Amino acid sequence: MLERLSFFTELRIRFRTQFYYFFRKKELKEKIAKRQGKCNQCGVCCEIGFFGMQCPFFDKETKKCRAFGTKKMPPTCRLFPFDKANRYEGRVPEIEKSCGYWWEE
Ligand code: SF4
Ligand code: SF4
Repeated sequence: MLERLSFFTELRIRFRTQFYYFFRKKELKEKIAKRQGKCNQCGVCCEIGFFGMQCPFFDKETKKCRAFGTKKMPPTCRLFPFDKANRYEGRVPEIEKSCGYWWEE
């Protein structure tokens, strides 16, 4: 079971995501261009949920996204993680270990 982020931490992370998505599209593209690797569908980011609620596309048994690679997958999920901070500010050790994305230092 993953440890839950505090409400305000999650709020800050979600707000930042939406801010970049709606108001900083150019910077967002630049950030994504710097990202290395690819999603290995480990499912940890989905397991974290959204303010304690599980996404309806998340299959708890397989720990996979049922919308992966389809048009149903929300845009912010497709962009995740657009930078290190977006990946829950490094506060979730499980995701740091299993996520398939990385950045050159
Ligand atoms: S849509 Fe898929 S990738 Fe996005 S949170 Fe739900 S299960 Fe995860
Ligand atoms: S944590 Fe990273 S590799 Fe795992 S499902 Fe999310 S984006 Fe993909």
